[in-house]
Amino acid sequence: MVSRVIPVDTFDLVIFGGTGDLARRKILPGLFRRYCAGQMPRDARVIGAARTDMDSAGYRDFVRDAIEEFGGGRDCEDGTLDAFLKQMDYIPIDARGENGWPELAQHLPDSARVRAFYFSVAPGLFGDLAERLQLHGLADSDSRIVVEKPFGRDLETAKALNASLAEHFKESQIYRIDHYLGKETVQNLMAVRFGNTLFEPLWNAQYVDHIQITVSETVGVGGRGEYYDKSGAMRDMVQNHLMQLLCLIAMEPPAQFEPDAVRDEKLKVIRALDPVEPHHIVRGQYDASADAPDYRSAVNDPRSKTESFVAMKIGISNWRWAGIPFYLRTGKRMSTRYSEITVVYKARNHSIFDEQAGDHRNVLSIRLQPDEGITLGVTIKEPGPGGMRLVDVPLDMSFAEALGEDGGDPPDAYERLIMDVIRGNQTLFMRGDEVEAAWAWTDPIINGWTARGDVPKPYASNSAGPTDSEQLLARDGRAWREVNS
Ligand code: NAP
Repeated sequence: MVSRVIPVDTFDLVIFGGTGDLARRKILPGLFRRYCAGQMPRDARVIGAARTDMDSAGYRDFVRDAIEEFGGGRDCEDGTLDAFLKQMDYIPIDARGENGWPELAQHLPDSARVRAFYFSVAPGLFGDLAERLQLHGLADSDSRIVVEKPFGRDLETAKALNASLAEHFKESQIYRIDHYLGKETVQNLMAVRFGNTLFEPLWNAQYVDHIQITVSETVGVGGRGEYYDKSGAMRDMVQNHLMQLLCLIAMEPPAQFEPDAVRDEKLKVIRALDPVEPHHIVRGQYDASADAPDYRSAVNDPRSKTESFVAMKIGISNWRWAGIPFYLRTGKRMSTRYSEITVVYKARNHSIFDEQAGDHRNVLSIRLQPDEGITLGVTIKEPGPGGMRLVDVPLDMSFAEALGEDGGDPPDAYERLIMDVIRGNQTLFMRGDEVEAAWAWTDPIINGWTARGDVPKPYASNSAGPTDSEQLLARDGRAWREVNS
């Protein structure tokens, strides 16, 4: 299957933090892949900006190295990289200084082109950048700004960030990235739910027993120890990525697939979340393995109380989901790298078969990574003459197999999201009120841990997390889907 690539309008994209890790690993290679695919116009310009003193020729070398290290496009012909690099410039700018801004203005002469500013810098600089863009007349009412996570570390800081951006930009100009929303399979959640008549009638408390969301990583905190230890799994993963998955799974059908229609429905889910009881949360910290240090050594704090694992049971008080538990878990140094959403349906309310047929349920699994796809567990008769014994078999669809080449190599989340910024489509970006609502729900949980002096449970590296996490479901007569299943 060949995907259609529709070129976006021509644009000027300024990447503040254009020399940073995110620019190098994701933004610049992503742009190049869109260039190779024919989506980035040949007269678009990309301008890197950071404090490092460098000229445009030096920046082009930097971009070339980044693309060679982190991957070009599969559709790229020889010579494409050289052509792409000609569209790059660099201007030394300090977000808190006054130098460089007039030069940047000279590079942005044509206000008819789409203008976007990517704030790929620490959040403490967002307000400075927003202010200077306006001060130097670089942004008009159609200019867009893109901001990265973390968007605050609690409700108060998120509100302050929103307020500092709102002084200079309208909400319709602000693109808050959660790269999970750019993942192909995450968008497929909406396609599966609202593009099929099959699932939606059964997507409620009447038919669903419970829903599990697992995002499991095999890596530890790596070189991010200092940063991670100040946030932990709750702030780093649950408040944003898992919350977004939960919203897409639980939300009501929006009237249209339009940014505010979708975001209104997501917001309603967050606002309907019940407060989480302390005994419905398990926190963990990974132990050392044969080849890697334990969490506390990795973050260089022998007394750290930050969690690298969290599992929780959540309730949603609305008509569709009242009484149905949502179990979420995420952790580092787990046995398998995988992300999956599982909808476990209720058992039949009456069986026409005798006891030996056993207890069977339908299970819908949506795999986000690796091997993106959907599996529906269906109950059939076990073959053979042994009477009516039932067995569950998977109806398994791997997107890579079903869609051929395109399904096997979907655009990276950043590629899609940057193109959405240029197209002016905010559907896959978080609105300010959504972020604040998510923090309003998260804050009491984290504050409760601090007030109680809660200490995370140790868990073995390369495992499924602390055993208490298994107990969380076992108490309800349920079990997590195996991490390696
Ligand atoms: P980084 O590697 O530390 O890069 C920071 C960038 O900001 C550098 O280009 C730096 O260049 C520039 N910078 C620092 N102070 C500046 C100033 N006063 N004025 C202008 N530029 C300044 O950080 P990063 O990993 O790229 O992360 C950037 C943002 O993305 C952060 O908000 C981070 O939380 C977020 N993020 C990153 C990742 C990731 O995978 N890296 C993932 C998700 C979110 P100079 O030193 O030359 O000024």
